[in-house]
Amino acid sequence: MTKKEKIINNFGILKLSTIKEMLDEILMKAEKEKKSYQDLLYDLTNIEVKAKQKRARNRRFKQSKLNPEKTIESFNFNFQESISEKEVNQLLDFEWIEQAFNLVFLGPPGVGKTHLANGIGIRAVNTGYKVLFLNMDQLIKILKTRKVIKKNERLFKKIHKTDVLVIDEVGYLPIKKEEANSFFQLITDLYEQTSLIITSNKGFGKWAEIMGDQIITTAVLDRIMHHSEIFNLSGKSYRLENREKIL
Ligand code: ADP
Ligand code: MG
Repeated sequence: MTKKEKIINNFGILKLSTIKEMLDEILMKAEKEKKSYQDLLYDLTNIEVKAKQKRARNRRFKQSKLNPEKTIESFNFNFQESISEKEVNQLLDFEWIEQAFNLVFLGPPGVGKTHLANGIGIRAVNTGYKVLFLNMDQLIKILKTRKVIKKNERLFKKIHKTDVLVIDEVGYLPIKKEEANSFFQLITDLYEQTSLIITSNKGFGKWAEIMGDQIITTAVLDRIMHHSEIFNLSGKSYRLENREKIL
């Protein structure tokens, strides 16, 4: 083996796959630019660190179940005037995640609640946080069936390990008393540990109807609202205003 082959072999053993592939290029550049040993080592390690971070980001994104298309960049703040770009940008420093604060987006259908929750979730993933996006229906199914469905037990565990849990569409479907109880249990477990992003088309005053129990609802809301930022979105439905016609 030549020296270079030995080096490449070592990078393989150390699982430094990006440097391994780019070694020729890196060495040529270093010679051409007469790089110092320090600069060369810095470049080498930097390339591998960047590649590793990118792989981790992509892994986190895949696990998050977020929709890649609903981004902050594709959100039109001129259409949705009840929240400003500045307010959303302030959320992107993620101080609220550090403090386990919750975000709640309330408002009628089509005003962009899910889009915003998803877009903020993507940015959190890019910043390094673990995010999991579920709608209320999926969440309730997981809570109900986790003892019998292995996949849902895994998701249940993931819910407890994530930094941000998005619960989309609270209130579209009513839930049963025992489901409300297990939802309350989950909210209690996550309280002050995990940030929630909740979207709902029903104001808090209507939540008791969804959950069918005033006492559980009060206890749930108490925990969600204790550390939270609430956004009341209003306006027209983006779906109706931007209806695509086939004819
Ligand atoms: P909600 O969750 O409030 O019912 P969505 O976030 O699902 O509404 O928005 C409905 C559709 O309209 C989605 O396709 C979403 O991407 C789009 N949409 C809503 N508001 C905006 C906006 N301000 N800019 C761009 N797209 C929007
Ligand atoms: Mg929605």
